[in-house]
Amino acid sequence: MTQGANQSRIGVLAIQGDFSAHALALEESGAKALEIRKPEEIDGIDGLILPGGESTTMLKFLERSGFLDALKDFATERPVFGTCAGIILLAREVRHPAQVSLGLLDAVVERNAYGRQIDSSILVGPSELGAEPLEMVFIRAPRILETGPEVEVLARRDGFPVLVRQGRIMAATFHPELSTDRRVHRLFADIVSNSSQPGGIG
Ligand code: GLN
Repeated sequence: MTQGANQSRIGVLAIQGDFSAHALALEESGAKALEIRKPEEIDGIDGLILPGGESTTMLKFLERSGFLDALKDFATERPVFGTCAGIILLAREVRHPAQVSLGLLDAVVERNAYGRQIDSSILVGPSELGAEPLEMVFIRAPRILETGPEVEVLARRDGFPVLVRQGRIMAATFHPELSTDRRVHRLFADIVSNSSQPGGIG
């Protein structure tokens, strides 16, 4: 665990959605969590989480305030992790219905692919994060329909990727912040601390 002066500073986009659960999960993973509400606030952070919530609502806010371009610039150098609505913001293409996205993750994503809110579910399954099965909380989750060649799949549901990594970009269609297992946030915190070191991944 990194602490003190070397501790990574990871922002959580705090416009809407479950940002406080992410902040807690980050703190439990050894990082310093900061709530981000303005584009200029991302200058001081080493990595950023785009949380679950309602992607259309987040997008309206991001488009109004010039935040979308700031996020694209940020992701050229620093790690970004999108969960649920966050992966919808990161994807190359969004369907059902189509909407604007950042195009930072080489994936095609279908919104609300598993039905209505009442169909949300908790699954436990294998992942690349270790032998222990991973709990995955799905809430009106999107489905990853396609991924590009640089996208590494870390967990699947019914054969479809649910946890992926493309270099410094990470994304999950579920909500790891709502489980007590911290392996997913620890992986992101590691990506952030490696990339902010000289000679790191970027
Ligand atoms: N269904 C939401 C959307 O399309 C995402 C749900 C979530 O983040 N839990 O934006």
